[in-house]
Amino acid sequence: MRRASGPDATMRILRDLPTLRAELASLGPVALVPTMGALHAGHLSLIAAARREVGPGGVVAASIFVNPLQFLPGEDFDRYPRQEEADLAMLAEAGCDLAWLPSVETMYPPGQASTIIVEGPAQGWEGTARPGHFRGVATVCAKLFLQTGASVALFGEKDWQQLQVIRRMARDLDMPLRILGCPTLREADGLAMSSRNRYLDPEARARAAALPGAMRAAIEAMARGTSPAAALATARAGLTASGFTLDYLALVEPETLLEVPAPPGRLIAAARLGSIRLLDNMAA
Ligand code: AMP
Repeated sequence: MRRASGPDATMRILRDLPTLRAELASLGPVALVPTMGALHAGHLSLIAAARREVGPGGVVAASIFVNPLQFLPGEDFDRYPRQEEADLAMLAEAGCDLAWLPSVETMYPPGQASTIIVEGPAQGWEGTARPGHFRGVATVCAKLFLQTGASVALFGEKDWQQLQVIRRMARDLDMPLRILGCPTLREADGLAMSSRNRYLDPEARARAAALPGAMRAAIEAMARGTSPAAALATARAGLTASGFTLDYLALVEPETLLEVPAPPGRLIAAARLGSIRLLDNMAA
């Protein structure tokens, strides 16, 4: 076991399962924040929420694992940002008690043959754009829940469909933990924080806030009585004119992700600026 070097020098940094289990056996209830690293303020807001959930006597655990199973062939698994030292310092600073950093071999031992397939909310949208993605997400989250014995796991609303998929899985498989969704943290101009935003060149970064801008405008137009079809068509046209390639912009039932004709619902979007794919969603 190695100690963190950040301001809170008591954070435990663990990489193998027997040590994790031995460590956790003697500690209080665990709140888990699963991440792929390249941390930003959005992730740290989940750490703060985790502390609120378990209190000073509980364990706030964060996992950092870039999960190969949730990347499709040709996606950015190799290019995904990795910055372990900086992430560990940020976690320690944020008051995290335990960082869980399994290797790919620890997570997926040779011969691994079991995965979890969620249907329902995993179908459509990201499920269509990235076939197999949610199988990878569900499988790694189920393993992280079992590895840590967490009593609560915290996820960002930023990845709305993912949050619904994990909730569905936990409910369907009687997993003994709560799944808590936390609000999306945004940059000053409204762009949802994301580890991949760093890959936007300055010109694309300046344009990126048009996505949440168009979504907000559509929601306000619908609230003023504009038909949903017209409000969404205006948003799509505006985004295309701003250089986005839209994968989808849709109004859906928040839990099932099935399309609804009018609010209330969740407005979900995926749009590409060059090779960078942005995701966002808002209550509508
Ligand atoms: P990732 O490292 O991208 O897999 O994200 C790890 C967790 O952080 C997921 O539950 C995300 O939904 C959440 N997250 C990512 N970006 C944000 C954000 N801007 N605000 C709040 N949570 C976020």
